[in-house]
Amino acid sequence: MFINGKFVNAKSGKTFDVFDPATEQVIATCPAGEAADVAAAAAAAKAAFYGGWKATSAQERGRILFKIADRIRARRDELARIETLNSGKPIVESEYDMDDSAVCFEYYGGLATKINGEVIPVPTNAMVMAVKEPMGVAGQIIPWNYPLAMAAWKLGPAIAAGCTVVIKPAEQTPLSLLALAKDFEACGLPPGVINIVTGMGPECGAPIVAHPDIRKIAFTGSAEVGKLIMRSAADQLKRVSLELGGKSPNIFFADSDFEAAVDGALFGVFINQGEVCSAGSRVLVQQEIYKKFVDACAAKAKTIKVGPGIERETKMGPLVSAEQRDRVKGYLDIGKKEAKVAAGGGVPKGFSKGWYVEPTIFYDVDNGARIAQEEIFGPVMSVIPFKDEAHALEIANATPYGLAAAVWTRDIFKAFRVTRALEAGIVWVNHMQPTMLEAPWGGYKMSGFGRELGHWGVEEYLETKQIYINLDEAPIGWY
Ligand code: ADP
Ligand code: MG
Repeated sequence: MFINGKFVNAKSGKTFDVFDPATEQVIATCPAGEAADVAAAAAAAKAAFYGGWKATSAQERGRILFKIADRIRARRDELARIETLNSGKPIVESEYDMDDSAVCFEYYGGLATKINGEVIPVPTNAMVMAVKEPMGVAGQIIPWNYPLAMAAWKLGPAIAAGCTVVIKPAEQTPLSLLALAKDFEACGLPPGVINIVTGMGPECGAPIVAHPDIRKIAFTGSAEVGKLIMRSAADQLKRVSLELGGKSPNIFFADSDFEAAVDGALFGVFINQGEVCSAGSRVLVQQEIYKKFVDACAAKAKTIKVGPGIERETKMGPLVSAEQRDRVKGYLDIGKKEAKVAAGGGVPKGFSKGWYVEPTIFYDVDNGARIAQEEIFGPVMSVIPFKDEAHALEIANATPYGLAAAVWTRDIFKAFRVTRALEAGIVWVNHMQPTMLEAPWGGYKMSGFGRELGHWGVEEYLETKQIYINLDEAPIGWY
């Protein structure tokens, strides 16, 4: 772990194993942090906040973030390799994630100097200002699907805002962030500003949420844990932002560009092995093109090269853990009872080791089916036919989630109508998944609340203070 600028073991001395999903081998052991370690990290973060960080200039914080971005770029190959060996994802995707993480730190390096308040005109002889201040110590809990990128999305804005941080990577994928931390001191980050604790959710994550000196929790992960966090945070009325799961619709009208559409359907749900919160896992296809579309998707899905992420030609790696593989396999069994299989449906042949599953397409799926309602977090597409625009919207919004959605059509009027009618935090037209660091990211409904990225991301780490300055020299004159 990395606490107060030093790499340390857990106070208990306990460790846990970290695996390579392609070989099922232990590639590292990490300290199994618990409440005592979280307390040490929170104390360091608090001391750093009040001991000078709070007063650092925005320029200084910005420069530190630029340096972190530079270090990610300089170490791109090494960090991408670590990311792939630890998460299973294709190396090309890890390289993309490293670039994206660097840009994210850079974006917030630039934003640090643009956090302004407001002056508000009031009817009295006074000047009233709204100033932005850092919340203090922030707790951040990270998922395993984009280990470094998700950390960057949270660290960038917190540092730009002037907060200090206790961050916990997922127990499956702690390595890339720990590797990056080796450079924090050289980037000018004072000890205690970013503290990394490693460990399990209940033992190491829950104490972050419960710690009285941690003012805010930013969480990305399952809805189930999101609810636990919100309940626990309620005790101290702690601020929370939650980015939870989804069951995002990817809607294809008959007038869409067919080739691009098929590509977009596959990309929407198979990128990163489908371990994507915004995965377009429900593919809604208009009746006129339905049969042809399912056949074309299935034919292409069967050609996706599954294998160890570290091999450059791999297009789909193993799932992150045995637990996740079993979870997804469970849904494959459920899906076979609920719908028809167009591609995949099991474990690929030819691998003696590795937590692989096949890219799978179910069709004739009823939107009420479990494979259409529950987040699977694996390479599983559920294809649902629809009649017309109204029908598509009815199905698309019939989900407890509302993270993302996409619509494919050449009709700009239809595109606008549908984007406005979809209940989702992110809506793409004629694409699915491009993630712009400058734009807001987050969900409607049970996909959570709060927004990451862009200037919205930094707001999550700021309090707003009203300052009233009386300009009238006469006494109030009331008594
Ligand atoms: P998954 O079940 O797919 O691993 P989770 O939502 O459980 O997804 O995990 C996301 C992150 O939340 C991980 O860093 C995990 O350790 C953490 N976590 C899990 N349970 C808890 C909990 N009870 N309190 C706080 N954090 C938790
Ligand atoms: Mg869990």
